[in-house]
Amino acid sequence: MEKLDHYKTVVIVQDERCCNEGDAEHPGSATEMSSAVAMEATRRRQRLSSNWGASETTEEPAGQWGRAWEVDWFSLSAVILLLCTAPFLVFFFVMVCDQYQCSVSQPLVELYSGEATLRSIWEKAPSFTWTAAQIYTVWVSFQVVLYMCVPDITHKFLPGYAGGVQDGARTPAGLINKYEINGLQSWLITHALWYANAQYFHWFSPTIIFDNWIPLLWCTNILGYVVSTFAFVKAYLFPTNAEDCKFTGNVFYNYMMGIEFNPRIGKWFDFKLFFNGRPGIVAWTLINLSYAAKQQELYGYVTNSMILVNVLQAIYVLDFFWNEAWYLKTIDICHDHFGWYLGWGDCVWLPFLYTLQGLYLVYNPVQLSTAHAAAVLLLGLVGYYVFRSTNHQKDLFRRTEGKCSVWGKKPTFIECAYRSGDGGLHHSKLMTSGFWGVARHLNYTGDLMGSLAYCAACGFGHIHPYFYIVYMTILLVHRCVRDEHRCSSKYGKDWKRYTDAVPYRLLPGIF
Ligand code: NDP
Repeated sequence: MEKLDHYKTVVIVQDERCCNEGDAEHPGSATEMSSAVAMEATRRRQRLSSNWGASETTEEPAGQWGRAWEVDWFSLSAVILLLCTAPFLVFFFVMVCDQYQCSVSQPLVELYSGEATLRSIWEKAPSFTWTAAQIYTVWVSFQVVLYMCVPDITHKFLPGYAGGVQDGARTPAGLINKYEINGLQSWLITHALWYANAQYFHWFSPTIIFDNWIPLLWCTNILGYVVSTFAFVKAYLFPTNAEDCKFTGNVFYNYMMGIEFNPRIGKWFDFKLFFNGRPGIVAWTLINLSYAAKQQELYGYVTNSMILVNVLQAIYVLDFFWNEAWYLKTIDICHDHFGWYLGWGDCVWLPFLYTLQGLYLVYNPVQLSTAHAAAVLLLGLVGYYVFRSTNHQKDLFRRTEGKCSVWGKKPTFIECAYRSGDGGLHHSKLMTSGFWGVARHLNYTGDLMGSLAYCAACGFGHIHPYFYIVYMTILLVHRCVRDEHRCSSKYGKDWKRYTDAVPYRLLPGIF
């Protein structure tokens, strides 16, 4: 194992342009790199580190940024636990609807009493089918064609929409990737075809997704594992950019959290953007439509709860595509590497667990009172407003370098300094007014309010649809802590000034 000299003191950050103002990765130890490419990446980092010798070393800000180079036992246990349990967790939440009308406790009671065994539950679940494989192959291929072969034209006539070729954030190695932003167009084309089929062509039933749901789970798992494994092997054998690879000494951690930063095939097929944005998020609204169609088929009507879930989640999905260029500057793209966490997560976790509410409502058609429906709608819309406005305020503030108006006033901010990879001193700003003055991550709070609204739309009969809010809370609280650790390392005492000025993370006065 080799340790680079400056490991404890130098922060390797990069140019201010990355991730709004700058991104940073710390070249710590690189162990057991098994390919020549990885060795070369290490040598280059060593050369860089020796260039940043003692004279360039700074004590403030200092620390380690971004994804870990060395894995502590806690992270490793969490990674292995997730790798082993996550696929079964997804299966469990889908299976309980298929066999127990979405009761989470019933299978556990039956297992405990001996009425059911793991084997009997497994045998009752639908298996892989070639029909599902065909549907999924057509679906993914269609999304690949839309992503790769249909350049965006919507930005030419939709005012305010930033589509077409856009720059991503600067990678740790200093690259700025170009992306063809055509997600909104792909979503529109796909949904127009879905509508045309349902209304006129009748090539397939609109319930097709629901009708093949568990067999499709098999197919998505196959793709999820193939993609993650391919990305893992590719990072060793033919990385897109060797200097953006991050190896730890632990194979599980590498597999789960990824090695390559922006794996690509050719110039344009970007794994992160495609897998996060296309087969998963485009499908999200179609899956919900399929659930609504199934309610109509089974009961002859669609409940107001189903309509609420469809509408609120469609707003979230459309927001994602309308702001796809902004998404290039978020933590997913700026800091996370592409591994099982993103590859499998996008293929399996997202489409199956983000749509649990609609699935639940097929089996439990809840009709909400007007007051309940109005409260859910209000919570969902206020949550969306907070989420979008907070994200927008930061985007505007960073784009204009603070020369803008937030809540009718010039924004206040804390001036921060950090050092770049070449030792240069850079400046950045952390806003302390608007939503960013109320708490440090109100965008997450808004997201959580919206998530709670989806769950509350299902009434209070079962805990099954509430899994989503539990998961989102864990995800976003963990993300908040992870991001703050990185920012604290990057900005040092300036970050402390910021947290003194804005002391709460998600809920003013509480957390
Ligand atoms: P943010 O958009 O909040 O970005 C965090 C970064 O913003 C920090 O690293 C820092 O970067 C910069 N920053 C922090 N504080 C300030 C400030 N006061 N003023 C200016 N810049 C600041 O995080 P994410 O990328 O995680 O989230 C983007 C959105 O995506 C969120 O709304 C989140 O809810 C949503 N999301 C949804 C998920 C889902 O599954 N539904 C999953 C993950 C996210 P710098 O180094 O540039 O200073």
